[in-house]
Amino acid sequence: MIPLEEHKVEEFLKEFKLSHPKLKEIMKLLDKEMSKGLKGDAGTAADVKMYPTFVGPLPQQSDKEEFLVLELNLPRVELALVRLQDHNASVIESENYTPPTGVQLDTLERLSGFIAMCIFKFTKKRKLAGKEWPLALIFPFPCQHEGPDRACLVKLTKEVTCKDVQGQDIHELIRGAINKSKKNSSKIQIVAIVNDNVSTLASVADSNPDCLIGLIVDGGLNACYLENRTRISTKGPQDGKAMIINTELGALGENGCLNFCRTDNDKELDEYSSRPGSQILEKMVSGMYLGEIVRLVLEGLTRKNLMFRSVSRACNLFHRGCFNTECVMGIESDNEEPHQNTKKILDHLAVKDYTDEDVKNVRRVCSIICERAACLTAASLATLINHVNLSPVTVVVDGYLYQRHPRFQVMMLNKTRELVNPELEFHLVRPQLERSIGAARIAAAALRSGNSSTD
Ligand code: BGC
Repeated sequence: MIPLEEHKVEEFLKEFKLSHPKLKEIMKLLDKEMSKGLKGDAGTAADVKMYPTFVGPLPQQSDKEEFLVLELNLPRVELALVRLQDHNASVIESENYTPPTGVQLDTLERLSGFIAMCIFKFTKKRKLAGKEWPLALIFPFPCQHEGPDRACLVKLTKEVTCKDVQGQDIHELIRGAINKSKKNSSKIQIVAIVNDNVSTLASVADSNPDCLIGLIVDGGLNACYLENRTRISTKGPQDGKAMIINTELGALGENGCLNFCRTDNDKELDEYSSRPGSQILEKMVSGMYLGEIVRLVLEGLTRKNLMFRSVSRACNLFHRGCFNTECVMGIESDNEEPHQNTKKILDHLAVKDYTDEDVKNVRRVCSIICERAACLTAASLATLINHVNLSPVTVVVDGYLYQRHPRFQVMMLNKTRELVNPELEFHLVRPQLERSIGAARIAAAALRSGNSSTD
């Protein structure tokens, strides 16, 4: 017999469990939105915008050998000098920059100013100035492309806040900031603006021609894939047989279609996020939000008097944002009795006087929320594999939740197998090279094809 209390906790958690039919329903909804996006309803009706990236299958040779690659990993900016030599691509040097304390990157002007300064510091330190440098920019937000190096920002995600971003031309902004910072004596030519997920896919394409899909489960959630040109009716270049589509599938649910499987906790999280109503699927899955969902569930169970009965309301558990995905991953990795790591995390949150039963419940909540995230990711990936409909197909999967969570990979793989059409064979691989190499390859291809506008 299950004790009554445990039974009540399980009842509370029931709505976080997604049955096979529910996952199939989510796949149907995603497939429908993807088709709408491909048909060019991007500006209006489609939740999943399916942005054409102007990146096709990549040539193996490059005329230029060295590229600067700048990745935004806000608030961090990462710069790399990448060398492409036939099949031996490598990152020669790299450095990370964070804004000085007190400096807020809260407008695009400040952000682009900081970017220009990082480029200046990087090139000066390495005595790269005085030479012309092609630059690839890894920009991990939804953008509408006009060319490989032309992208307008649609919105920011992952709780990054900056004023007046919509429709801003990223190329112009950064170009302007570089020109303004008179210090920059090296000539920087922005030749590619690339999504993080797309650059990861490009880093694998050379060594694995079956790799047609990229998935990222990081602070955000996204997927991209190589699409047949005949299936894309949105604006884009007409040459070539295939092009990478940046799905931006983390937005699924913005039209309310996921409401049937969202809980009150998901709705509360959304309401207090920096962009309510945006990135609904991403908010149920990605590392930016998992910790907060767990915290909201723990708070809910405490309010219902089902756990932490002797814990004071003043403790951190009742404060938004104090329980992050690192805590969840720490607890999920702590399998051995007496669960010292889980206790350490609770101690750190100043949760006092908890019982062994509370520790068990915390672990149960983390496990259920992570399982749901893995199942939703699997449903997204399975939809894409079925859509690509080629066998065998390889998927490159990146992102810290996938790489570092102890069970996420296995849970996701098993569920994807259950959901993919049985005749399709697929393999998941991890990226072997840095994504800056993928971005440099895209930049090289853009230069080679002459598709990049000159500054
Ligand atoms: C962004 C995507 C990005 C993903 C992973 C999402 O929030 O919309 O463009 O690929 O995060 O960084």
